[in-house]
Formats: sequence, structure tokens, C-alpha cells
Amino acid sequence: MKERIYNFSPGPAMLPYEVLQQASGDILNFDNSGIGICEISHRSKEFMHVAAEAEELLRELLNIPGNYRVLFLQGGASSQFFMIPMNLLGPGKKATYLNTGTWSKKSIKEAKLFGEIEVAFSSEEEKFNRVPSQGEYTVADDSEYLYFVSNNTIYGTQFSTMPVSEKMLVSDMSSDILSRPIDVSKFGVIFAGAQKNMGPSGVTTVIIRDDLLERCPENIPTMLKYSTHAEKESMFNTPPTFPIYIVGKVLKWLKENGGIGEMEKRNREKADQVYKVIDSGEYYRGHALVESRSMMNIAFNLPTPELEGKFIAEAAEKGLNGLKGHRSIGGCRASIYNAFPREGITRLVDFMQEFEKTNPA
Ligand code: PMP
Repeated sequence: MKERIYNFSPGPAMLPYEVLQQASGDILNFDNSGIGICEISHRSKEFMHVAAEAEELLRELLNIPGNYRVLFLQGGASSQFFMIPMNLLGPGKKATYLNTGTWSKKSIKEAKLFGEIEVAFSSEEEKFNRVPSQGEYTVADDSEYLYFVSNNTIYGTQFSTMPVSEKMLVSDMSSDILSRPIDVSKFGVIFAGAQKNMGPSGVTTVIIRDDLLERCPENIPTMLKYSTHAEKESMFNTPPTFPIYIVGKVLKWLKENGGIGEMEKRNREKADQVYKVIDSGEYYRGHALVESRSMMNIAFNLPTPELEGKFIAEAAEKGLNGLKGHRSIGGCRASIYNAFPREGITRLVDFMQEFEKTNPA
């Protein structure tokens, strides 16, 4: 086999190698049962155990209180953009949103279909180079919730501390869930597509406070009601069995590797190494303002688009792939989630320093 590359892509992203090794065996013969993991019934006792274990590990790692439900849904994180307001708002009801990038903008558009949406902050005019500080926005008294994207995958910005509000928080944590400790009790809903920090694409994890399930209106499609999936423990229809299996294995890996506190420490160290090179001169320029910098996605530019193209191509030749920035902002981006190995960061940092020397502006 070709040597494994370091994949900096924003998601699907690198998974722990140990998990992939185990999965490759379980695809053929799951747990020595004589049948592969993709072939077993979602109602079999083997799979029920897989799903229950994944939920248990998530509860333990994130310290999820007993009055929250964990759902494993489909339709991508993008389906939560409408499911949240569809279930929690309605005519005459209001919610407050912070517009910090493409994913919040898309959420705002969907939410407007179901209620009155107040956008209390936007960094769009500054090319989404920052998130707001506390006190820079106000949440209306009659708002049902405050919605924000904890980490903006495209622009490389992140809330270093979560917004504080008397209203319940609702957050898209697709690109930083499990990367640092959070206080789940401050949230009404947390959701995350798995394909960055949890597993492959195909499953979206939703953590929802159980009293909110009573708000789900009767007159919306059954599949789009949180209460449907909560009542049937995410087995109302066939769940994405293989992604759920991988999520369980990734969570086990995470626990064995010291849990979320340790992940946060490693993530900070990894990101700091890259930011140090960016800050060392004028050659590399970070997109995000320093106080809004993300530990998960580092978006940066080189002196010219030509040099950026050369940088991305030469990096790929050295086994450092996926460094092209999102088409909406261009430039480069290194996505370095929990499972991204430290050796890959060292390789990137060495490459950045060498490229700067050999390709003066
Ligand atoms: N939210 C965030 C923060 C994301 O980064 C993404 C995808 N990159 C999405 C939502 C959309 O996820 P999906 O493709 O699963 O719908």
C-alpha cells in the first residue's frame, strides 16, 4: 500500500488509524459473528449494542446530563438548519442568530421560513474574520434561543468561550464537537455532522434537552420531528448503521487517549505550532483575527495566488493533501481535528518554513 498521506481536508477528514484497522476487519466479520458490520440488521442485538455503546460513550465524554436525549439522524448537519426552527419556533416566535460564516448564514435563511429571526451580530462585511465578543450583541427578551456556530470551518474562526445568555443556547458544533470540554446544560440543542471530529459522513448527532420534545408541532412531517426519533431511540427508520459503528469506535479511541481534556491540550499544541509559523513574519497571513482563531481549521494566505497554487501542489507531492482553502475565500486551509496526527503538523510546519525560504515573495 502507498504510504498514508496527511489529509488536511475539512471533512470527511482523517480518522484514527486504529479505528480504520479494526473497521476493516469488522466489515468482513463483525466481532467474529460470521457477518460483516454493514450487513447486520439495525434491529439485531449486535447492532443495538453498537448504538447503545456509542450513545453511552458520548454521554460520558461530554458529561451529558440525564435530561438530554442523544439522537443519531440523517440528512447531514444541513437538515438541522431547518429542523431546529421547524420544531422549536412557529408563527410569531422569535430566535436570535449570530452570523459568523457560511454555515450560520445558511441556517438563518432556513430559520426565516419558520419564525422571526433577529441577526444580532454579523462579521460578513469583514469577510467573517472574527466571532463576536460577549457584550457585542444583545439577545431579545422574547427570543426562544440564541443560535451560533461554535467553529466556522471555512473561515477558521472559533468561539474561544461559549456565548453566555439567559436564553438557551443552540449550537452547530459540526467542526469542533469533542475538541474541548463544554457545559451541555447551557444548551437546548447541540448538533454535529460526524464527518469532522466523530466519524464518516452519513450521521448527524443531535443532543436535545428533553422538555423541548414537547414543543414539536403535530403538523410537520413525522421524519422531521425530533420527538419521533426520541420516542423510537433513533430507530424509527433504518439508521446509518456503519457511520454509527465508526462513531462508537472513534469515541472509544478518544476515551482511551485521555478524553476531551487531553484532546483540547493536543489540539491547542497542534494549532499553536502552525500559528507560530504564520506569526513569524509577513509571508503567511492568517485569515482570522488572533482572538477568534480556530484550533480546528487554520485559514491562511501566501503573498500571491500563484504562490498559493504552488504551495498546495508541492505540499501534495510531499503527502500533505487537502490544503486548498474553501472556494468562497480561496487561499489555504489546514483542518486539524482530534484525529489529525502530531507528526503531520511537524511535517506541515517544516514544509511551510522551507517553502518560504525557496519561494521568496
Ligand atoms: N455546519 C458546519 C460548521 C460545517 O462545517 C458543515 C460542513 N462542512 C455543515 C454545517 C454542513 O454539514 P453537512 O454537509 O453534513 O450538511
